[in-house]
Amino acid sequence: MTETASNKKVRVRFAPSPTGGLHLGGVRTVLFNYLFAKHHGGDFIVRIEDTDQTRFVEGAEAYIFNTLEWCGLVPDESPLHGGPFAPYRQSERKPIYRQYAQQLIDAGKAYYAFDTSEELEAKRKEIPNFQYNQTTRTVLKNSLALSKEAVAELLAANTPYVVRICMPENEDLGFTDLIRGEVHFNTSQVDDKVLLKADGMPTYHLAVVVDDYLMQITHAFRGEEWLPSAPVHVLLWQYLFGLDQMPQWAHLPLILKPDGNGKLSKRDGDRLGFPTFAMDWTDPKTNETTIGFKERGFLPQAFINLLAVLGWNDGTDQELFTLQELIEKFSIERVHKGGAKFDYEKAKWYNQEWIKTLPATAYSHIVAPLFEAKGIALPDNDQFVAVLDTVKERCVFLNDFVLQAGFYFQTPAVVDLAAIQPKWDVKKQQFFVDLIAQYQLQTEWNSQVLEQVFKELATSQQIKAGELMLPFRIMLVGGKFGPAVFDIAAFIGQAETLHRIQQVIAQLTIA
Ligand code: GLU
Repeated sequence: MTETASNKKVRVRFAPSPTGGLHLGGVRTVLFNYLFAKHHGGDFIVRIEDTDQTRFVEGAEAYIFNTLEWCGLVPDESPLHGGPFAPYRQSERKPIYRQYAQQLIDAGKAYYAFDTSEELEAKRKEIPNFQYNQTTRTVLKNSLALSKEAVAELLAANTPYVVRICMPENEDLGFTDLIRGEVHFNTSQVDDKVLLKADGMPTYHLAVVVDDYLMQITHAFRGEEWLPSAPVHVLLWQYLFGLDQMPQWAHLPLILKPDGNGKLSKRDGDRLGFPTFAMDWTDPKTNETTIGFKERGFLPQAFINLLAVLGWNDGTDQELFTLQELIEKFSIERVHKGGAKFDYEKAKWYNQEWIKTLPATAYSHIVAPLFEAKGIALPDNDQFVAVLDTVKERCVFLNDFVLQAGFYFQTPAVVDLAAIQPKWDVKKQQFFVDLIAQYQLQTEWNSQVLEQVFKELATSQQIKAGELMLPFRIMLVGGKFGPAVFDIAAFIGQAETLHRIQQVIAQLTIA
């Protein structure tokens, strides 16, 4: 069977629950859905799965859409973008689900359960690892255990109930996962999951199946953590719509901790000092902010690229891929079955490569506000972009530009005097005093002339130019970094160059 055996238009969905920031694993799920859909000329749908009102978090939905926008993964249909299958927010689809729950009850595939939370709590205390399942359901308060009359009475009295799926006994359930191949479950291992809650809201299990059907989803990539739910979904498909209608599933392997085993968590990122969220997320309850890749200074091109290769490769040595290339090259056969270890050093490498590869015009609009936030006034855009292009080789993060290029636009606030002072003497001081005098006379101000004057003066005073270059650099940029020093002097101009030399000389002392 091929990935797209039927001739239906490919339709994939990302179906997040708005419960907080988006972990990089979540963005990778979006990305693989997106790449697959676009590779096949299909549609990418975002559906907000907000049926669990107790887990609803203010701002989380907006955060998801902002993240998708930052990554350039634009949905074809969503609550924000609209579409022919609206509404795309499950809380707005509440009336749709009940009829399917009823259909299942009428067919004997689901049942009413009247047990109160206190009663279930008591059971959990009494029976270790209590589950509502084939064994326990016979002695609990539900429409399978009670008489027809008792059930009718409870319903007539408006007794609160949930609807549970009736898991058949000892049946083999299977499906072909696009990544893992044949997957099998025994129904006796699965409990009778709730489908409809007492407040009339569907649970995830019912809503996901109904909506995937109604929205004509053909393929669904989701995290491996959803695999245990698959038997419930397969059964619901079988009971409600027919297995031939079921989307093809692909359960993506986990993104693993860099050290040790197990899924990479936000806590690992905090512990090891790297972001795990796409963008900064502030928890509205605690006000605690978790740093994101975006604010840490990653380019979206790099973020997308590093996520794509976490569990996929194109079979060649190529490492840098644009989104367009990923769309062209993506194939599900090349998604790995095993988990992919997250390597932050490699992630940084991708960012550095993308900063180097792209022309600075591609990100000058992101970088400019970082300078402005530090109170650094910028020149016109052409000059600004030219500077960024000059220093980009030295930047791992976009934020590095402020340090690597700030001195072009502003006198350094901090100068590493300690790096000059130990070797500072009368001869060097005299050299720089004379240099100021000579530079003051220059009518032509370009790097060749400045270098020539500097070197001739050094020779005439019998000092090695090499010994003077480092102090000169520190005077102009504040530290031992930056591109060619005469280029910098040429850029900042005559008055500013002289001012910076003077200012530093005044702070140095001669032993
Ligand atoms: N609402 C689920 C989530 O929060 C979706 C899982 C799925 O894709 O089926 O991830």
